[in-house]
Amino acid sequence: MNRKEKKGREGKTFSDIDLLVRSVERWLGNPISRALLKHISKRDKDGETIIEKVLRKYTGEKVKVNGLTYWILKKIIEKELKEFDASVNEIKESLKKPIIRRGIVNILEGIAYWGVTKPQITAAPFLIVWNFTKQCNLRCRHCYENAGPKAAPDELTTKEAKRIIDEFRKLGVVAIAFSGGEPLMRKDFFEIAKYAWSRDFYVSMATNGTLITPEVAKKIKEAGIEYVEISLDGFQETHDKFRGVKGAWRRAVEGIKNCVAEDISTGVATTITKYNLKEIPEFLEFVERELHPRRFIAFNFVPTGRGKEMIEADLSPKEREDLLALLYSKLIDPNFHMDVLSTAPQYAVTSLTFFDKFGGPLVATHFINQKAAEMLKGKARALAPFLGGCGAGRLYAALEPNGDLFPCVFIPVKLGNLRKDKLEDIWKHSPVLKKIRERDLFEGCGNCPYKEICGGCRARAYGYFGNLQGADPGCVRNQKYWEKLKKEIALLE
Ligand code: SF4
Ligand code: SF4
Repeated sequence: MNRKEKKGREGKTFSDIDLLVRSVERWLGNPISRALLKHISKRDKDGETIIEKVLRKYTGEKVKVNGLTYWILKKIIEKELKEFDASVNEIKESLKKPIIRRGIVNILEGIAYWGVTKPQITAAPFLIVWNFTKQCNLRCRHCYENAGPKAAPDELTTKEAKRIIDEFRKLGVVAIAFSGGEPLMRKDFFEIAKYAWSRDFYVSMATNGTLITPEVAKKIKEAGIEYVEISLDGFQETHDKFRGVKGAWRRAVEGIKNCVAEDISTGVATTITKYNLKEIPEFLEFVERELHPRRFIAFNFVPTGRGKEMIEADLSPKEREDLLALLYSKLIDPNFHMDVLSTAPQYAVTSLTFFDKFGGPLVATHFINQKAAEMLKGKARALAPFLGGCGAGRLYAALEPNGDLFPCVFIPVKLGNLRKDKLEDIWKHSPVLKKIRERDLFEGCGNCPYKEICGGCRARAYGYFGNLQGADPGCVRNQKYWEKLKKEIALLE
């Protein structure tokens, strides 16, 4: 993303944007389009949908499709492209990539099944974060996975992992992000990452970075891993204290440098708490100046896993709001080349406020892969109510080392296990997911004008109140819940 594009205002007025949203609803959400979408979402014996075939034909491939179906879909595609000021040739080029087609098919199938919803529910998780192993060489204070030196005895085997990747592919999952524990601790990590890559997934990984030597960075690149996110919780002293191992900071910094040297798209991830909040402005400068990653992502603290033992470290709503404004000011700073993002869904609100006043990019959700984010560049304002902040159980899900499926890595509520349950059944019929998707019923957030583009962090609502439909107490608009919580915690002390 270059500076000019970041500062651009998409050349559209608000009424243009409303018209765009209405156009999406009119063209894709009406009963006739939906019936058509349902029909063309059916899969043939090779698992391919008619939508996919139409998209391939549209790019110029020789594919057999019913002429009338093709004509109607071509009309819809071109009408929408016109509304979004997108160039037909550019889109045809993009559609040649299987991963882009898979993304579009996933969204259209989602509309066929769920209708146009704000925010949109996709037909299958767009992204699966796969906690590949419980094994880790560090012992971080805020680890959500409670990882340790040993792998869990019931982790998925290599064969099972491959079978699950095939299931993801069949269902239209677009991206897989390997996490952990430390994914590099598992011997078959590169075999599985390569397998996912060979099946046209966008593959990324989150790691503590300490094992990434120059040779490992090369292997990461060769395995087709397109994005590596390395955790760094501030300067050396803070990081080593958090991570529980002396020297972890130095090795993680080496890991970042080794990935950047291999020209791998690299992100620095920092969980921000009261313990490192003060050093963040200087730390951001350091990361930009010395490490040159593509992205800096500020993780919201979630009281889950070992994080439960340190809830006193959470930021107050005001601290979070100020932090998000600082991050956004860096995102649009022409002297900053890295994209500065946050997993706090309220970042969508911060960016919308800036966007409406001064222009600038809109960060509509954090659980989206980089390729999709690039494609959406410049159209995010119109699409924000569909992308909608928190993606848990709607755009994204998390897979545990033993095959258990969760709505988000930070929500320890089991939806099923992929050793025996089908992802499709869980995604379509889970009562837990139904709850997560009913934003009108959320406490606090349900009455908020920003519920469509934010929704609050469901993991924080669950972590603090044990209620997936509870309020996210980390938001200035939910201040009363924060005050209540503070009182309760004080009573416990
Ligand atoms: S009240 Fe909830 S939905 Fe509204 S901005 Fe705050 S966290 Fe987001
Ligand atoms: S619950 Fe939602 S906002 Fe919170 S970390 Fe998960 S996806 Fe992000």
